[in-house]
Amino acid sequence: MTRLPSIFVSHGAPTLPLTPIPAREFLAGLGSTLGRPEAILCISAHWETRDPAVSTAARPETIHDFYGFPAPLYELRYPAPGAPALAARAARRLEEAGFSCERDPTHGLDHGAWVPLLLMYPKADIPTAQLSVQMPRGTAHHLAIGRALAPLREEGVLILGSGGATHNLAEFRAGAPDAPPFPHVAAFDAWLAEAAEAGDEASLVDYRLKAPAASRVHPREEHFLPFLVAFGAGGPGARGRRLHRSFSHGALSMAAFAFE
Ligand code: ZN
Repeated sequence: MTRLPSIFVSHGAPTLPLTPIPAREFLAGLGSTLGRPEAILCISAHWETRDPAVSTAARPETIHDFYGFPAPLYELRYPAPGAPALAARAARRLEEAGFSCERDPTHGLDHGAWVPLLLMYPKADIPTAQLSVQMPRGTAHHLAIGRALAPLREEGVLILGSGGATHNLAEFRAGAPDAPPFPHVAAFDAWLAEAAEAGDEASLVDYRLKAPAASRVHPREEHFLPFLVAFGAGGPGARGRRLHRSFSHGALSMAAFAFE
């Protein structure tokens, strides 16, 4: 059984599967680089709940949770089997660590999960469950969630955080997927890589005060929180390894990291 690092990826715009930019090519190669996990637990920025929740559907539907995009995007499906047994194990681990955790049999795979997975594992044959984020509870909460889930990696589970290393849609340059990054976006991306590679937990938890332009690149935190879960799932003392660096639409860092 392969023990994989925990992973964070930036999923970018929903159009990523149809857009030939470097991040797409990176994700298309990432699955074969990592190897095949037994199951996948994806922490998506696009599933927000009050308390942690895991998806327990046996056959999760592909959710097209975006509006106004080209029609072919709505025809994409990611028919991976669900992973109710993994979801139950994850929920138990969270409860043992003192969190409450809901089981949601209705949530399918939102685009935070299926956009990167469609590229990483296009056969859609690996059982996949999702875990939600809790926007108001902040970074330390999500780091602790990751820590509680870290032992699942010993069971061949890929813990995949999917969000955005930067994510200010008010500055998003629509129609310019290969626009260069704004300077403050590049600065935050560089700070993040340095803190991740140093395993600087204190700075990452306190990033809103420590990082350049933090509240500008993350006006809301939901796309950053999966990063904290992935970092936590690397285990105590984990360091990040940058897997990818590129930018899209001026405002989006497409950075990806492995933690172990
Ligand atoms: Zn997103």
